[in-house]
Amino acid sequence: MTDDFLFRGPLEELDPDVAELIRLETARQEQRIILIPSESTIPFAVREALTASFHNIYAEGYPLDETRTMTQAEILDYGARLPEYRRLADKRYYKGTEYADIVEALARRRAAELFATPRYSAEKLFVNVQPLSGAPANSAIFSGLLTVGDTFMGMDLLQGGHLTHGSPVARSGKQYKAIPYGVDPVTERLDYEQIRQIALEHRPRLIIAGYTSYPYAPDWNAFRAICDEVGAYLMADVAHVAGLIIGGVADVVSFTTHKTLGGPRGAIIITHRSDIASKVDRAVFPGEQGGPHVNTMAALAVALRLAATEQFRELQQQTVSNASRLADQLAARGLRIAYGATDTHLLLVDCRPITGPDGTPLSGDIAARLLDLAGIVCNRNTIPGDTAALRSSGIRIGTPWVTQRGFRESEIDTLAGLIADTLQASVPFSYTGRKRSEPRAKIDFEALQQVKRGVAELSARVGIDTDAGAVD
Ligand code: PLP
Repeated sequence: MTDDFLFRGPLEELDPDVAELIRLETARQEQRIILIPSESTIPFAVREALTASFHNIYAEGYPLDETRTMTQAEILDYGARLPEYRRLADKRYYKGTEYADIVEALARRRAAELFATPRYSAEKLFVNVQPLSGAPANSAIFSGLLTVGDTFMGMDLLQGGHLTHGSPVARSGKQYKAIPYGVDPVTERLDYEQIRQIALEHRPRLIIAGYTSYPYAPDWNAFRAICDEVGAYLMADVAHVAGLIIGGVADVVSFTTHKTLGGPRGAIIITHRSDIASKVDRAVFPGEQGGPHVNTMAALAVALRLAATEQFRELQQQTVSNASRLADQLAARGLRIAYGATDTHLLLVDCRPITGPDGTPLSGDIAARLLDLAGIVCNRNTIPGDTAALRSSGIRIGTPWVTQRGFRESEIDTLAGLIADTLQASVPFSYTGRKRSEPRAKIDFEALQQVKRGVAELSARVGIDTDAGAVD
């Protein structure tokens, strides 16, 4: 019998309610086919690091700058780093951070190595791994590089931008003057000449490229040229597609670490400009945040190590080719792909052409609800032509998670059939609610059951992360 105050014992004993919820959620993730492009299942090793003892500590501040140009082996040279910490450890506000320093320096260096280009080697990149998520990372870039009231340009939320790119309900749109750009209504593609004209007219201090639901990689060189012409910073928000592109083109790059990167929830900011690096570092801490989540940085270091492997490269390639095949297969089944196609991990289906006998078009929300009933999880999304975020006509579909589970051509073809069967069996109608007419849809019971059986068979054919705690 001890007389300490440590709550020993497993979750199952200490809180069976939450333990049960976790079991149910784990089962849901195993049994459903999850197509939300911003979701993926993180390797168990990353989760192990995430819950480890680094969670317990505070480490406000940053590791020594010198570690930015050290190799991973030098950073991990305890014989050199620990005495150095004793001599110089005054960059952090807390003591007890000798290992936190090493883990953060390691995560920064691994990110720099992954994003290095022939022009900008790892030594020339400045990395901040402390942002707690994508939105705070973007806020920190804004407060580091702009003054409240400054003009910037970002993609219209309704056509593919993110809330942090200038939505009037978010800080980006409230504190700064956001000028949106969008797609050409006919081609549904970015029109760089039009973006240039908007930039010439408004002279923004910063332009964001990189999107939440526009399914193509931007033409970075075109954006660079526009920014140079008007004297704006180019900010790349590659939250979704981290891993491809840029390096030397954008002034500053931000991305979340939990989407295609398959890491813990967090974000990274990278720049090759030392003047921007110091502003961004100060804007993240102490400007935007307090203590960094050291456990997240440890988990991130693991994810970045995995991201340097051939298995990861193949996963990304397969993810992109799966998305493009899914778009082709859905189009072959007669569904309209918004924006025409995809060259990334996500695509959007325009639900409007599916109409009921009273002319009601299928709404994105109802389509997503029906698919969820059938066991296929995606989200409603606005597409070009929509005028309000809550009245979206599309669904957004992404292939990161299913590709992690081993989906290749044949599974994608089966999946396309199940999605098309569900959407095409649905019969939209208008329901007169208390305040207004609401879109709804019916689906034939047997058709739904058949899709459910198809989902169960498909799900059983591919891998599940048994390390993550399979249900019995
Ligand atoms: N930027 C883009 C382009 C995104 O798609 C997202 C997330 O959906 C974010 C920023 C914000 O990331 P978080 O949800 O982690 O704050």
